[in-house]
Amino acid sequence: MDDKTTTLQRPFFSSEQVMAGADKMYRQRLSDIERAGYLDKDELFLARIKKVAQVLIQQAAQDFPETRTWQWEIHSSSEHEETAYSMAGGKILLNQLQIERWSLNDAELAMLLSHEIAHAVLEHNRLEYEQALVLFPAWHQRSFEELEDAVDNDESLLRALAPLCKQQEEEADAAGLRLAQRAGFSMISLVNFYKKLSRNSANPNFDSKSHPAPARRWMAMRELALQLSK
Ligand SMILES: [Zn+2]
Repeated sequence: MDDKTTTLQRPFFSSEQVMAGADKMYRQRLSDIERAGYLDKDELFLARIKKVAQVLIQQAAQDFPETRTWQWEIHSSSEHEETAYSMAGGKILLNQLQIERWSLNDAELAMLLSHEIAHAVLEHNRLEYEQALVLFPAWHQRSFEELEDAVDNDESLLRALAPLCKQQEEEADAAGLRLAQRAGFSMISLVNFYKKLSRNSANPNFDSKSHPAPARRWMAMRELALQLSK
């Protein structure tokens, strides 16, 4: 509604600023994981995820030309609590334990990666920061670094941004599925990733404020797959 229009009319941050900030936070995160002894422990696994990611990144370069100059990076963690995530500019982290536990084949892995790539390509970090400023204009008085931190840690900001996060999850699912399909991965396997997500979830029907229920995501992907294959 109005919030969205305001955001679009007033880009508060440049993509470059957000990518530079993301790069710094990513580096910090990687060094923490390395210090804990969980970073890139398995060379074969790392080679596998990089190979699958490469196919998707090449497709993204065709579909989203602005990403051609990005320094994409992908690493793996074998820490139990870690979940897959991506940051502005294509900085991605996957959890090896999750991928092995779910026995993801390459196309299912491609869906996981493509979802993360879609978050980066759609500039979800930047839009989140801008929405925070629209909802809480007082943040204009503070530094960008503080805002970056608050978006991940401040309770009231997290609560206020939850609906946007949920919308971004749905967008990354749909854009990710389209990207991976164009890159040549099997639609059945791409959708099957969401079946595994749902089956491996303790509460597959739980729709939280910030995340759509896994079962609903699976259904949405089945429907999109049907549309795309018509
Ligand atoms: Zn996501």
